[in-house]
Amino acid sequence: MPEKVVIVGSGPAAWTAAIYAARAQLNPLVFQGNPYDNTNKANGTLPLGQLALTTEVENFPSWPAGNTREYLRTALKADDVDFPYWVAGDKEQPTHGINGPELMALMRQQAVNFGTRIESKDVTKVDLSKQPFTLTMHDGTTVETLTLIVASGARANYLGLPSEDKYKNKGVSACAVCDGFLPIFRNKPLVVVGAGDSAAEEATYLTKFASKVYMVVRRDQMRASKIMAERAMNHPKIEMKWNTVVEEVLGNEKQVTGVKLKSTKGAADETLDVAGMFLAIGHTPNVHFLDGQLELNEMGYVKWTTVARTYTSVDGVFAAGDVADDYYRQAISAAGTGCMAALDAERWLGHHGHV
Ligand code: NDP
Repeated sequence: MPEKVVIVGSGPAAWTAAIYAARAQLNPLVFQGNPYDNTNKANGTLPLGQLALTTEVENFPSWPAGNTREYLRTALKADDVDFPYWVAGDKEQPTHGINGPELMALMRQQAVNFGTRIESKDVTKVDLSKQPFTLTMHDGTTVETLTLIVASGARANYLGLPSEDKYKNKGVSACAVCDGFLPIFRNKPLVVVGAGDSAAEEATYLTKFASKVYMVVRRDQMRASKIMAERAMNHPKIEMKWNTVVEEVLGNEKQVTGVKLKSTKGAADETLDVAGMFLAIGHTPNVHFLDGQLELNEMGYVKWTTVARTYTSVDGVFAAGDVADDYYRQAISAAGTGCMAALDAERWLGHHGHV
């Protein structure tokens, strides 16, 4: 018998879809990815997704700052507690509402509580050409399913410097909205790398907290829309560093202390004293395993073929979260579309006489 609903992914979209599908008695199976795979480690595509790479999450509704520790202790099964933050016991009560890994572990637990089954495997191949669809895992096993929810997310692009890797979560971030508020950045100079709308927006956003923001732009012009570029360029706290790239992230044992810039025009190298480096050089949706079988938009994200529905170009395949979102990319919007995808899958199954 084929599965009714298979969900590929492990972020807010995937777990919300699983919660809804499980509560609808569809017995969903989630492929959350292989935690031991080195490519997953390098790309930040491990189980629990991009949020597992962040620290505090202060903008997910229902998680105000408070005493979450005791709740977390009892809400998660002991063997599901993968993260050391709240089990160590020797750490002080966090002042935040919830952090990214905690939020994701709770979402997963909520899905499990309703009967979701989870496999820690990467889906490496799909055959969407006929019903039921066939998925092949990294270990060669296969599964057949009537509906598929693609919620495999996207990964932030990084420069690929070893020093950048070393300071991830210690001052290097690819999400100003997530991390800009943190105390380590407060009233300190910061760097934003990139020249698109995201970079302009993030640099402008960071001026709320930083003493100064440098924008490191590899060409002599912005890619961002005129209005957003000008807002950033005219901001009294933002200084443009044209024709430059980051060559190395500098820091001590604890955090970033500066960046070394290299000119793309042969000018002298320069070092900036900064407490943080924010990357805004685009995202890459995780669509490789689909091998061109779903239509993508011009930016490479899975295309929703009907407005305000999670339908894709293949009947019975639905997409949710960042893999289909080149624009909002928020945990809460991903969760919302995960819910939509589960409802769409349920209706598809009903319409085709499977429930
Ligand atoms: P973009 O692809 O538009 O911009 C990426 C930027 O990163 C470019 O300026 C590019 O430089 C630079 N870049 C890429 N690789 C490197 C590198 N290795 N070193 C240095 N710089 C690099 O991505 P965004 O995330 O900014 O935007 C994605 C989409 O989302 C766009 O359509 C945008 O309009 C939209 N968006 C809209 C917003 C809004 O309207 N409020 C806010 C945020 C995004 P180069 O220009 O030289 O190629």
